[in-house]
Amino acid sequence: MNVNASSEQRIIAVLNSLAENLCCPNCDSRLRFGDWECPHCGKDIDDDLRRWAMRLLNRLASLSQ
Ligand SMILES: [Zn+2]
Repeated sequence: MNVNASSEQRIIAVLNSLAENLCCPNCDSRLRFGDWECPHCGKDIDDDLRRWAMRLLNRLASLSQ
């Protein structure tokens, strides 16, 4: 696989994002990646996942400049 420097930076940005701990805004339970609702209180965390995804997209956009 041919991975250039900027691809490598983007890969690292994605992996760092995946390692971020997301917490339930309602009860502070730690969420696992792939959860769409809090396993503790059942809160829908769609908005939080979207914010997480937006942060990642911004990071990737800033790397491609
Ligand atoms: Zn919760």
